[in-house]
Amino acid sequence: MDVVSALTDALPPSAVITDPDSMDAYRWDRANDPDAGVPLAVVRATSTADVQAVVRIAAEAKVPIVPRGAGSGLSGGSSAIAGGIVLSLDRMREISIDPITRMAVAQPGAFNAEVKAAAAEHGLWYPPDPSSFEFCSIGGNIATNAGGLCCVKYGVTTDYVLGMTVVLADGRAVELGGPRLKDVAGLPLTKLFVGSEGTLGVITEVTLRLIPAQLPPTTVVAVFPKLADATNAVLEAAREMRPSMLEFMDKTSINAVEDELKMGLDRDAEAMLIMQSDEPGEHAGTQAARLDELCKANNSSECYVTNDPEEGEAFITARRMAIPAVEKKGALLLEDVGVPLPKLGDLVIGIEQIAADRGVTIAVIAHAGDGNTHPLLLLDPTDEDQQKRAQIAYGEVMDLATGLGGTITGEHGVGRLKAPWLAPHLGPDVMDLNHRIKKALDPDNIFNPGAVYPTL
Ligand SMILES: Cc1cc2nc3c(=O)[nH]c(=O)nc-3n(C[C@H](O)[C@H](O)[C@H](O)COP(=O)(O)OP(=O)(O)OC[C@H]3O[C@@H](n4cnc5c(N)ncnc54)[C@H](O)[C@@H]3O)c2cc1C
Repeated sequence: MDVVSALTDALPPSAVITDPDSMDAYRWDRANDPDAGVPLAVVRATSTADVQAVVRIAAEAKVPIVPRGAGSGLSGGSSAIAGGIVLSLDRMREISIDPITRMAVAQPGAFNAEVKAAAAEHGLWYPPDPSSFEFCSIGGNIATNAGGLCCVKYGVTTDYVLGMTVVLADGRAVELGGPRLKDVAGLPLTKLFVGSEGTLGVITEVTLRLIPAQLPPTTVVAVFPKLADATNAVLEAAREMRPSMLEFMDKTSINAVEDELKMGLDRDAEAMLIMQSDEPGEHAGTQAARLDELCKANNSSECYVTNDPEEGEAFITARRMAIPAVEKKGALLLEDVGVPLPKLGDLVIGIEQIAADRGVTIAVIAHAGDGNTHPLLLLDPTDEDQQKRAQIAYGEVMDLATGLGGTITGEHGVGRLKAPWLAPHLGPDVMDLNHRIKKALDPDNIFNPGAVYPTL
């Protein structure tokens, strides 16, 4: 029996899509990988059993599977493969909350925002907050170990994952970890799957740790005529406190957002910092006042403090808008490099130099307190020469970051776009270790081939 017939036989009606126009919605993530293929079928699973059935059929026929959450990824991790199966988890969205143990059990297709909303009904909070939280799935967050804005204080996705059900390459479903705050029995395999980008197995259920709801934050916004002064302020703030947000936008991203929102952002500023403190009681105000002092000591031209939640949220919306706002100016090639915090200034100024040398526009936003930047290379899709120069700049930005002791990706993942840079970044021994683990769990390379590991 051919693969499509086997899938149609094994799965509920309407789970298997083969119409090319309908499959288009599942072929790309937000990186718009030009090499995405036309799959054999898209399967919209509704249960762990469905996923097991798909994996067994694919394993038997040695057909590749691309697990897919909400397709908001920025590294081509869920680009479809020609002749493969896109295994979408978008229908698996159940969430239950246990307020006693402060845990959520969620199916992978539930949006991050839906998990947050379900937790909030019990006065609880799921902190990791990628800017895409309203349209990315919790399964995708775990598969990429997503970060976000409050992660500077509260940690990233992995810090909240206690357990999961994973379907392995032979179709078995295993339960790793569980509703236990401490558990050191065996190797920490739950963590192995966090950030595995769909290359080791399909996550079909997760157990997440929740914490009490966040206290109302005080927001500080500072603008700087010089880039280096802004990055120095970040360093000084991080040295003496843990703000609950420490975000950076450069002039190009400020202007792109101002074009969209018209909220009166300073178009002449070279950089803007958006910071928050959610310390209890008067401590938030004290911390905010200190941030204000540090920014002024580092030559900020304007600094604004507010404890009005709506005003604060308006600035955070501006920061979250940055990628879509810059995207309106042309096609984007997105970077995600990170460095140790003391090197943040060298990175941001080095990126400015690369942009000037290659004659390309690079807007920079950053989860600055984590040293994690998102240089956004802006492209005119009709200008081939510019695209070549941008490709060179893309590699140079990664070389710059690794030369400063940093990483090629802080939170978006390697996917397909960054796969050629992984081996040079990790070195032969660590790359070999990666390959051995991948081969042990997925010997026929059916899970997301071409992502992360370009060769095996
Ligand atoms: C405007 C914008 C802002 C963003 N801001 C942030 C940010 O602040 N922080 C951040 O970290 N990211 C950010 N992202 C990137 C993206 O939203 C995250 O990488 C997110 O975690 C992807 O989730 P998804 O459900 O869309 O996954 P997808 O894009 O569908 O998939 C991502 C990867 O995970 C794998 N995968 C998905 N689901 C599963 C599963 N159930 N089992 C196994 N593998 C799976 C896929 O194969 C793929 O490799 C942003 C994206 C956009 C468009």
